[in-house]
Amino acid sequence: MRLIFLGPPGAGKGTQAAIIAASFGVPHISTGEILRTHVGEETDLGQKAKDYMAQGELVPDQLILDMVEHRLEESDAQNGWILDGFPRNISQADFVAALILKVDREAKNSIGDLKVINLDVPDQILVERLLARGRKDDHEEVIRHRLQVYREQTAPLINYYLDRNQLQSINGNRSMDEITQELKQVVSA
Ligand code: AMP
Repeated sequence: MRLIFLGPPGAGKGTQAAIIAASFGVPHISTGEILRTHVGEETDLGQKAKDYMAQGELVPDQLILDMVEHRLEESDAQNGWILDGFPRNISQADFVAALILKVDREAKNSIGDLKVINLDVPDQILVERLLARGRKDDHEEVIRHRLQVYREQTAPLINYYLDRNQLQSINGNRSMDEITQELKQVVSA
């Protein structure tokens, strides 16, 4: 299984990615979580990423791409993975596509085609959910900026993956259980 969860901040990507990962036995790889761990541990990467995250800006690709490549090389990711919060722009998406091509060229068995799930949720609901979540970068001003960054840099990935026949959109404005049920069907299909 190779799955990407796309969708604006607050769409429920993290929650659903964790459930699907546990039920299919693949790692849930959240770049935001990995970055928050680096910030907490005050690593080099953490120091460099911190200000971008606090402002709701994307952390520069040059820091993110290495981090993702190394994570995908770990042993638990050899039979599949779920990416949550990555890719966030076209160049990150090109990077994953190239990485998959390279792995498939070298591998004996394919671990499956890439599927991309777009969790669709109206803006007003997103802001409400994010304000309720209360994470460090969940102040109204930063939230609005994260949504703007999403629209400008990440939303173009919807067409990117539609063009490649890899995208499946799911209505994320329903109960958690309903969304999980539909996701399981889509992923197994
Ligand atoms: P998230 O937990 O996915 O909402 O990410 C929190 C913050 O981490 C984002 O607002 C960005 O500053 C940073 N971040 C997470 N993933 C990425 C990524 N793929 N590219 C650049 N920055 C990222």
